[in-house]
Amino acid sequence: MALIVQKYGGTSVGTPERILNVARRLLATQSEGNSVVAIVSAMSGVTDSLIKLAKEVSNQPTEREMDVLLATGEQTTMALAAMAIQHMGGKAVSLTGAQAGIVTSGVHTKAKISNVTPDQIQKHLSDGAIVIIAGFQGETSDGAITTLGRGGSDLTAIAIASAIDADACQIFTDVDGVYTCDPRIVPTAKKIEAISYDEMLEMASSGSKVMQSRSVEFAKKFGVEFEVRSSFNNNPGTIVKEESAGMEQVVVRGVSIERNQAKVTVAQVPDKPGCAARLFTALADAHVMVDVIVQNVSASGSTDISFTINRDELEKIGDLLDRVALEIGAGEVRKQDGIAKLSVVGIGMRTHSGVAAKLFEALAKGGINIQMISTSEIKIAVILDEEKIAEAAKLAHTAFGLDASA
Ligand code: ADP
Ligand code: ASP
Ligand code: MG
Repeated sequence: MALIVQKYGGTSVGTPERILNVARRLLATQSEGNSVVAIVSAMSGVTDSLIKLAKEVSNQPTEREMDVLLATGEQTTMALAAMAIQHMGGKAVSLTGAQAGIVTSGVHTKAKISNVTPDQIQKHLSDGAIVIIAGFQGETSDGAITTLGRGGSDLTAIAIASAIDADACQIFTDVDGVYTCDPRIVPTAKKIEAISYDEMLEMASSGSKVMQSRSVEFAKKFGVEFEVRSSFNNNPGTIVKEESAGMEQVVVRGVSIERNQAKVTVAQVPDKPGCAARLFTALADAHVMVDVIVQNVSASGSTDISFTINRDELEKIGDLLDRVALEIGAGEVRKQDGIAKLSVVGIGMRTHSGVAAKLFEALAKGGINIQMISTSEIKIAVILDEEKIAEAAKLAHTAFGLDASA
């Protein structure tokens, strides 16, 4: 008898019919002789509607109350899923994150899981119940409700699978697995059979939102192998696991895109120690997350510093940088939105040369201008005009031989 954790995302539980479908799938898995734990997300659109609702009563709701509110989305689904199973004659019990023993840090809206005490899960499993757990939520040691960041039900699933030492962890979603690019952007994208934690992590953190990046980090740290697959069919999905021999032969595993970026340039920054530190300390103090940074040193003793941030963070910056620029004797601060990031990812890059050249050539052929470049050991990322991003993704996908027909 195996112990199986299955996570069902928002679209998979998006309507009462789909919740009934999930209930049938869970019962079928149990009837094959398995113990079953299910993690459920809020029904699709619910988390966004709750955020909107909060903004209708306050333009700055406290993060503590946001968590209390957002946790209700998953709680609705867990009860409905348990009821659906009971209606079909099965045995099921629903648990909130706190009841499931998920203890987190106190950083509201993006709490970290500090430990899981799965006593109640074990007890209900030994009673023969299917245990349905609300994803995305936990509780601090002081009893405050917390949430784990957008897409956080993935993290709940991986953490529970690790805590109960499950034999399998399956992430059910609305696509057949992890593809070489988002299939909604590049229709010729192919399903990847197996991908390493490092590649999945780079793809997730560069815009492939099929998995929450923090959940992949957790899986890598605790060695939780998992499968991403569809809740609408029985096709095998994508296995995410430790790197294995032969995986490096594929130079580029996938292409990710991230829209909604903004570029900020501080012109004529004096080329002397401490100026960059002043700029970026001011941004850090304002909790602005900076992504790609480029500095061009000019002959005249000053430099231009450009960096990218999420477009939503532009508001946080306001005139902060104008003030710092004045203090350090820099020139104008220019802000530009409507940009996006394209990344190509693959552990094979460690041992192959010419990857950057191939990417730049493909974009050049399409007449697409590269505004910034950043690299890591297994990723090359470029900043482009947002209008060109889908075309750029298709060109890169083809150039690296990833198309389904290739
Ligand atoms: P869930 O609600 O099940 O958590 P998400 O919407 O979070 O589902 O993730 C699934 C979506 O991720 C897909 O519908 C797809 O559009 C998108 N996606 C982005 N990049 C990829 C990729 N490389 N492979 C598969 N899906 C991707
Ligand atoms: N409901 C949460 C969200 O929409 C968590 C999740 O679905 O994983 O971000
Ligand atoms: Mg998701």
